[in-house]
Amino acid sequence: MKENLNPFHIAQQQLDEAAEYLGLDESTHKLLRWPMMELHFRIPVRMDDGSIKVFDAFRVQYNTARGPAKGGIRWHPDETIDTVRALAAWMTWKTAVLDLPLGGGKGGVVCNPKELSESEKERLARGYIRAAGKHLGVFQDVPAPDVYTNPQIMAWMMDEYETLVGEKHPGVITGKPLALGGSAGRKGATARGGIYVVREAAKVMGIDLQGKPFAIQGFGNAGQHAAILGQTILKMKLVAVSDSKGGIYNPNGLDIKELIEHKRMTGKVSGFRDAEEITNEELLELDVEVLFPAALENVITEENASRLKCRICCELANGPTTPEADHILFDKGILVLPDFLANAGGVTVSYFEQVQNAYNFYWELKEVQRRLNKRMTRAFMAVYEMHKQENIHMRKAAYLVAVSRVAEACRLRGWV
Ligand code: NAD
Repeated sequence: MKENLNPFHIAQQQLDEAAEYLGLDESTHKLLRWPMMELHFRIPVRMDDGSIKVFDAFRVQYNTARGPAKGGIRWHPDETIDTVRALAAWMTWKTAVLDLPLGGGKGGVVCNPKELSESEKERLARGYIRAAGKHLGVFQDVPAPDVYTNPQIMAWMMDEYETLVGEKHPGVITGKPLALGGSAGRKGATARGGIYVVREAAKVMGIDLQGKPFAIQGFGNAGQHAAILGQTILKMKLVAVSDSKGGIYNPNGLDIKELIEHKRMTGKVSGFRDAEEITNEELLELDVEVLFPAALENVITEENASRLKCRICCELANGPTTPEADHILFDKGILVLPDFLANAGGVTVSYFEQVQNAYNFYWELKEVQRRLNKRMTRAFMAVYEMHKQENIHMRKAAYLVAVSRVAEACRLRGWV
């Protein structure tokens, strides 16, 4: 039977399993199964040729029991409300597993940013805020960058918001450029958080990572930083990477600096010198110590999971592994560092950015990294201990930690 690959159904299925395990009462389970609020809206944008194009957009506030909703805005041609709901749910579990005083949210615009000029992007970004701005704010909902959005887009969004409310509110959005109140260390934070949890996982598994091969699917923000930090912090050897146009492999290692330059110049990783061309599917099945899925959802399924050969799978992407695949990987003894733990470095530094904006006082890079290290290590240990204690896979363990924290907040507020 074909797997259900609707990401929101997967998110609900994952929650159902956790709810059953925790013995959650029916009302709490129902509350956590659906977003508390959704905005569906349309953004008319004047294009450079004078025509008007109307874009479908969403903002989902999944749960705000622990604090304001927090989550990125994605711009993608295949965006759907169910993808945004799933990602908003995962943000709820992510902020909870990191023990941040935040809830979960997510936004999306159905568009192909590769076909938009810079000025069209600016008008789209401002249009998003004009439509959704009433529901955003430091005490309500704080967006951030995600797939195909970036600090410049956050800057336009913050500017539009401040124009609407007539005051300075840098904390309304995170992932801003440094010059506008961004945090030092935000850019590489997602990957850095993932690298810290891989380091901790290797420690508890007794694996020496030095010189061992690793592979990365997706060579954008998360993937490129993972490449650099995998080499510099973990001392590992990058042997394969891919992007939407295909992948490359060299068992002797790839020169990361040159590869980033090659990607910048040509827009793809393929065609890189001294490397064999491989497909995205082949990359996932390489014999590597650590695999980083850092692109899209549902790439590790019941179809290919049994062929994976890595020892640690560090999910920098959101939702790369289906529930059926999770069980297969667990039985194979592959330690999966689940997305909402492994890629929580970004939201953690986003939270630090909010804190610095509120103080109007900014930390040095070293201070940001020290605090990130501490938070990621603590979150890893909470999940790992649950995994060991209950003999369940890491995602389920992360769910148990996160869901029980969110459920407790709902209960204490008297919502359930
Ligand atoms: P990005 O847009 O910078 O990069 C995405 C990369 O994935 C690009 O290299 C693109 O070519 C590649 N890609 C697209 N389709 C692909 C396909 N079918 N097969 C292989 N590669 C493909 O995005 P990013 O910020 O690096 O985010 C990547 C993933 O990490 C997403 O799932 C995102 O939700 C997640 N994530 C990112 C952050 C962050 O701070 N950047 C935080 C948390 C989670």
